Amino acid sequence: MKKHSILHVYAYLLIFLGLTGLFLVLVNATLFYRFNIDRILLERVVNIQTLSNTIGSPFWIHQELLHIPGTVENFMQEMANIPGIVFVRIVNLETKTVKKSSDRREVGMKIENPPLFEREKVITRDGIFRDAPITELSIKSKSGDNLWMGVSLKSIQRNIFLTAVLIGWGILILFGIMALVIFFVSRRFVIDPLTKLSSAFKKLKNEDYKVRLGEISGAEMQSVFYTFNDMTIRLAEIRNRERAVSAAKSEFIRIAAHQLRTPLTPIIWGLQELKKAIKTEEEKQQIENALKRAEDMINLVNSMLNVSRIEAGGFLPEKQPTDIKKLINDVFKNFEPTAHKKNLTYTMQLPEKEMLPMQLDQVLIQVAVNNLIGNAINYTPEGGSVTISVEEKDGTLLIRVRDTGIGITPEERSKIFNKLYRSTRGIRLQPDGMGLGLYIAQQIVNAHGGELVLEESEEGKGSTFRIALSQERLE
Ligand code: ADP
Repeated sequence: MKKHSILHVYAYLLIFLGLTGLFLVLVNATLFYRFNIDRILLERVVNIQTLSNTIGSPFWIHQELLHIPGTVENFMQEMANIPGIVFVRIVNLETKTVKKSSDRREVGMKIENPPLFEREKVITRDGIFRDAPITELSIKSKSGDNLWMGVSLKSIQRNIFLTAVLIGWGILILFGIMALVIFFVSRRFVIDPLTKLSSAFKKLKNEDYKVRLGEISGAEMQSVFYTFNDMTIRLAEIRNRERAVSAAKSEFIRIAAHQLRTPLTPIIWGLQELKKAIKTEEEKQQIENALKRAEDMINLVNSMLNVSRIEAGGFLPEKQPTDIKKLINDVFKNFEPTAHKKNLTYTMQLPEKEMLPMQLDQVLIQVAVNNLIGNAINYTPEGGSVTISVEEKDGTLLIRVRDTGIGITPEERSKIFNKLYRSTRGIRLQPDGMGLGLYIAQQIVNAHGGELVLEESEEGKGSTFRIALSQERLE
């Protein structure tokens, strides 16, 4: 699911508040307008009633009034002076105009819209007067005559509109201030602390246990900060303890391995000398077995030493110009007796052309190739074949060890380079073994900036391991 930044959420909130404010402006303006129009029209009706009372209810007795010169004219004049009134007209039962206001502004009226509202004796309609919108008031007299009056809303319309807009702006500004206050408050109390927390977690992920979070304003976040600080202190303690245990373990393995190797070397020499002196085949065989055991033990001890080196920070190759062909040839030769004993077709393919020396740690690369050839021989049943080949391609040295052995299944493929992993099929064919050979070989090649991969393998058909060492990187 897509995650939104809290700042985006605020932006959406601001847009929402803006739209709500705008909507409220419109609603407010409309209501305000309608309310004020009604109020003004009612005021005008009251004006008429007051005036007509003062001059003697012209609607009820207008026939008589008409004969009294000046009375109606006075009334009309007074009416025309009230702001907003554009004309006054008295109409008789036959809807004939009895009297018009003498005001210049009055020229007649067109009624276009249906009545807006009807109150007792007062009918209101929207109309147009001189192309401008007006409201027409009609007040029925007892005798059935009507007083028609046109009220222009133009001047007051503008004022009403301006007021509505002002109120609208007020609301908008209020919403804006609210949003800003929310933003600043949450930035201070939520966003900033969260950003600090997130960067502190990143540092912690990179094992920086010294990271600490300081004082902030919000109580809740402050408590999270304190908990974080406590947690890093605890983590640092645990990590230090782990490191100490691991260092002690590695040191123990290193010392134990050394102690084991020191007496083994003279034992092997002694056995080799003894072998030369012995005549009977049976005794020779016994000595050979003892020698094999002692060599196995030396190999095991060497592996343990290498693992302890990896754990103490990895291999640091001591590079020197190395004759690759010689190095491979030496390793190949070491395994010849074992390969022949297993009746394997054991071959080596070296490039014919001369190879320039490469900067390598000879001892370490020898260990890596040793492990690959040892495995190829161990995991190939009698009668199979093992081939070591060397190739130079685009400035990269490729060393391949190919066999026709038990092969590696797709499930095993992801695990064979792990420390101490051994496949069940592997154990069946080769019960001795620690599951360290490939792990050590890979670490050695990696320390040289190269890569060791299982190039191809098929169960029951064999495998090819490939070491690639870039020559540029070695110079
Ligand atoms: P070990 O050989 O001591 O078991 P390694 O780390 O050298 O340890 O190898 C790990 C496992 O990978 C072996 O147990 C075996 O299952 C598998 N393996 C390694 N090389 C080969 C090979 N050439 N052919 C088949 N399986 C192999």
